[in-house]
Amino acid sequence: MTMAVKFMTKNFGRYDIRSLASYMEIGGLTALKKAIQMPGADIAALLTAAGIKGRGGAAYPMGKKWLQARAVKAAEKVIICNADEGEPCTFKDRTLIQNDPFNLLEGMIIAGYVIEAQHGYIYLREEYSYLKSILLNAIKQLTEKNFLGKNILGKKGFDYELHLCSGAGAYVCGEGTALIESIEGKSGRPRMKPPYIKQCGLYNHPTCVQNVESLSLVAAIVNDENNIYQTYGTKGEKNSIGTKLISVAGNVKQPGVFEIPFGITIRDIIYGLAGGLEGQPISLIQFGGASGKVASKDILDTPYSYEHLIKAGVGVGSGAILVVDESTSVIDFLITTQAFFSHESCGQCAPCREGNRHIRLLLQKIKDGVHTQADIEKLNSIADIMTVSSLCGLGQASQNALKTAMKVFPDAFKIMERGVKIG
Ligand code: SF4
Repeated sequence: MTMAVKFMTKNFGRYDIRSLASYMEIGGLTALKKAIQMPGADIAALLTAAGIKGRGGAAYPMGKKWLQARAVKAAEKVIICNADEGEPCTFKDRTLIQNDPFNLLEGMIIAGYVIEAQHGYIYLREEYSYLKSILLNAIKQLTEKNFLGKNILGKKGFDYELHLCSGAGAYVCGEGTALIESIEGKSGRPRMKPPYIKQCGLYNHPTCVQNVESLSLVAAIVNDENNIYQTYGTKGEKNSIGTKLISVAGNVKQPGVFEIPFGITIRDIIYGLAGGLEGQPISLIQFGGASGKVASKDILDTPYSYEHLIKAGVGVGSGAILVVDESTSVIDFLITTQAFFSHESCGQCAPCREGNRHIRLLLQKIKDGVHTQADIEKLNSIADIMTVSSLCGLGQASQNALKTAMKVFPDAFKIMERGVKIG
């Protein structure tokens, strides 16, 4: 089976990313020109036929999301491109911005046309501030040539502007409502829902949030007259059509970003694309960033697809694959993960703020070999409470690694036999 492919990455290295003219020489903006001659609903239907699920982690069908956003009636609507790629081990969106910025913006303009939005915002993570000039330059050139602005390409009433914003480095601002608070100039803390942002989002306007990778697929899908995209991926009733950008890191010889067809195995990815491990054998593999679930090496022959990974007890999530070898113990790995979430919790709700801190303390007891059965029960109970009562995804998912590790690696949590105290 083909290991790495070039569909959404086909423009990489083929044009000067600082030049709109250079992008147009390789066929850039033909998708936009084609799209504005079509009814918006037909473009959403193309995304549905291609089976594209949002690539930010939630995997919501993209065509359906655009149709829902299009159906909302409002004087102003907004699209946000979530480029706050903060999940540890996730760095695929950065690659798309660095290598093909005009393609991302073309996808955003088509989204504006379909959803009938007037404003698009790119929320770029603060750590990627060195990419700002690339995006600002592209926005400026697109505006000068009327691919942005009023009556775009002569289409009366198609008025759409793009803006670039960034926060101050908070992981939680990847959550849709926290991101909106941050753009509005407030502290990046998640909002209570409802109201949902699709009705009341940025500055109270209906808002559609999409990930960089999702938007980077749009132009290629509009231009894909021979349905090449649909020849990739797994087939069947519940399928994962097409390709996916993944980032692989940890104890592998060649960490990096790869575009793969859904369906190649985890072994193909780790030992083929990422070159295998340096010396020590695999201890665990985490899927989808720090908030993702973990598996043992038993997962190596599982195909990488939405349905196969869920069946195997993990998930695609952000598209990250972190490989950890036996030089790091399962408990040390979990302590590091929980320390990350303790640091990143915005602190506004107790289950997340206190839960992450207590889990970390209990893990330290396990590391020191002084824990009891009551501590194990407490770990389970705190993790369950956090899942059901935290306000946002950070608190709800921050113990995913712990909960799966307790099932997959029970020996790591074994209670030590200790001597009997006399006197
Ligand atoms: Fe903040 Fe955590 Fe509550 Fe989310 S779950 S709102 S990050 S405290």
